[in-house]
Amino acid sequence: MCGIFGIYNHLEASNLTYLGLYALQHRGQESAGIVSSDHRHLHHYRQMGLVSEVFTKDILKRLFGKSAIGHVRYSTAGSSEIKNAQPFLVDYYKGSLAIAHNGNLTNAPLIKSELESKGSIFQSNMDTEVIVHLIARSKEKSTIERTVHALKQVEGAYSLLIVTENELIAARDPFGFRPLVLGQIKGAPVVASETCAFDLIGAKFIREIEPGEILLINEEGTKSFKPFVHKQHHQCIFEFIYFARPDSFLFKRSVYEVRKSFGAQLAKEAPADVDMVVPIPDSGFPATLGFAAESKIPLELGMIRNHYIGRTFIEPEQRIRHFGVKIKLNPVNNLLKGKRIATVDDSIVRATTSQKINKMFRKAGAKEIHVRISSPPITHPCFFGIDTPKKSELIASTHNLKEIQKFIHATSLHYLSLEGLRKCMKEDAESFCYACFTGNYPIPFQMDLE
Ligand code: AMP
Repeated sequence: MCGIFGIYNHLEASNLTYLGLYALQHRGQESAGIVSSDHRHLHHYRQMGLVSEVFTKDILKRLFGKSAIGHVRYSTAGSSEIKNAQPFLVDYYKGSLAIAHNGNLTNAPLIKSELESKGSIFQSNMDTEVIVHLIARSKEKSTIERTVHALKQVEGAYSLLIVTENELIAARDPFGFRPLVLGQIKGAPVVASETCAFDLIGAKFIREIEPGEILLINEEGTKSFKPFVHKQHHQCIFEFIYFARPDSFLFKRSVYEVRKSFGAQLAKEAPADVDMVVPIPDSGFPATLGFAAESKIPLELGMIRNHYIGRTFIEPEQRIRHFGVKIKLNPVNNLLKGKRIATVDDSIVRATTSQKINKMFRKAGAKEIHVRISSPPITHPCFFGIDTPKKSELIASTHNLKEIQKFIHATSLHYLSLEGLRKCMKEDAESFCYACFTGNYPIPFQMDLE
């Protein structure tokens, strides 16, 4: 779970990268970093924390140059510490190079141990570093050729950006697991995980970078390469369910519209005889709109989210029950008293959130709580870039529907069916990865599921 942004040949490269990362903050909140190039040297800054905490005007001023790449990180491979923050910058015999990666490489442990046995020394414990080693070891002439050579050896999910002294490379794996979009601002090419980054800086969305496509951007312009054998696409359906911002356009669709269609489909599959439909903020909103419109039941904001919570807060010495959830969410008591409600949320992972939320609804006086989830039960962990816990912690992997309903104190519980989800993706249904619901991983690999 990461967000990446890159820009080539713009006077305000670092400032725009900073803003791009701001728009992509939802994709990772652990660390943030930018590497810029002034065509002779690369300049680097990365730190643990949110974009707003990491960068100051002075730091951005020091990131000279007309090209830059940036990264926000939420670890899915490697621990959460500064040595694993990206972009990852190295100097090697051909010059300098920095990389920003969104995704997970399934054969990275194997490649890493092979390289280590030959004497390679790794500076981090993240999978991305193997790409850098493979590029540096390649005997090919140009950076783009060395990059292709390296990427042909790795398996798994990657949308990535590489900046050198005088070029920017953008690549998306042949399965297309994670999104990557191309735009333009005042003639300067920009690349980002999601289009919401373009909207903030006033860039125009040009197109999506295709699965298996590599772009080389330099003084001569933008060149596209498709060096891989064609593969069936497996774009991540969870980007639509939860991860991407609803105002983004990716995988050929508006995230907002797709989320609404999930809600409408859910209402057809599992209608509820209730007084009102209540969204679980914020990720449940678009699906709730679809659910309420389809079922012709009034939508009410029965749960309010406090948007001004920092990363840490001082809890009173006498512990308050469920403080962590309560500081974020609070029900509208008067609205809920004696009412039968249907709540719509995007997913259940461990089910601790739903349980706490429903306790709050009950305390506020809701008579019936019919929980509707706009995705199928998550039964398998993701190995392609979404941070999900191991199988034993996924409630749908260890409990049946009735048990989960009881655990979360719901009057009824229904998930969107896999068929319903696929139906919403229409003619593109085959081009998505549903492994978190089915366990059918598109790439064979050796990983510990438990
Ligand atoms: P829980 O079931 O308590 O583990 O949390 C479920 C909630 O977390 C859902 O309402 C989602 O909005 C959100 N969520 C879903 N997937 C993830 C994820 N991979 N990382 C963080 N939050 C998530």
